[in-house]
Amino acid sequence: VGCVHGTERAGIAATRALLSTVPAPGTAFWLVDAFNPDGCAAGTRQNARGVDLNRNQATDWRRLPRGTFLLSGRDRAPSPSRAAIRALVRRVRPDVSIWFHQRARLVDYSGGDPAIQRCYGRLVGLPVRDFGRFPGSITSWQNASFPSATAFVVELAPGPLAGSALRRHVAAVRAVGTRGRAACG
Ligand SMILES: [Zn+2]
Repeated sequence: VGCVHGTERAGIAATRALLSTVPAPGTAFWLVDAFNPDGCAAGTRQNARGVDLNRNQATDWRRLPRGTFLLSGRDRAPSPSRAAIRALVRRVRPDVSIWFHQRARLVDYSGGDPAIQRCYGRLVGLPVRDFGRFPGSITSWQNASFPSATAFVVELAPGPLAGSALRRHVAAVRAVGTRGRAACG
C-alpha cells in the first residue's frame, strides 16, 4: 500500500513501479496506491473527515484527543476506505502486506513474522526497529485477524522514492512476496 498518510506519499512510486514488475510464478501482487485517497490527494495526514485511518481500526482502538494529528475518529465509525481495504484483505488473504509510510527510515517490527521484516530491511538497507505499537493501526488489525500472515510498516526516507532506492524496494517486495522468510536464506 503506497500511501496511508497523505503527508507521506513516497511509497506510491513503489506501487506504480510494481505494476510493471512481473511477479514470480505462483505469486501475485495486489497493489493499492492509497488507503486514504482523500488525504493522499489533498496532502493531509487524515481523511476528509479528519480521521487518521491508521488510528481508526478496531484492534486496540482507543479514543484520542480531538485536535491532535492522531485523531482516531469519534466512534470507530467505518469509513469507505476502511471497509474497502478490509474487504480486500479478507478476500485476498495476502501472505505478506507492506504499508509504506515516511519518514523515519526504518522497517518497523509490526507483528507477524519478524524474519520477513528483517529480510526486507536487509534487502533495502534500512534498520529494523520496534517503532512502537499505535492504537487502532491497520497493521495491528491485520496481524491480529490473520495470525499466519505478516503485515508490516516500512518508513521510507523523507522526499521522493526514486532511482536505486526505488529499485531496491521493488526487488525486496518481489523477494519477500515470492519466498517469504526464505528470501534472505
Ligand atoms: Zn504514516
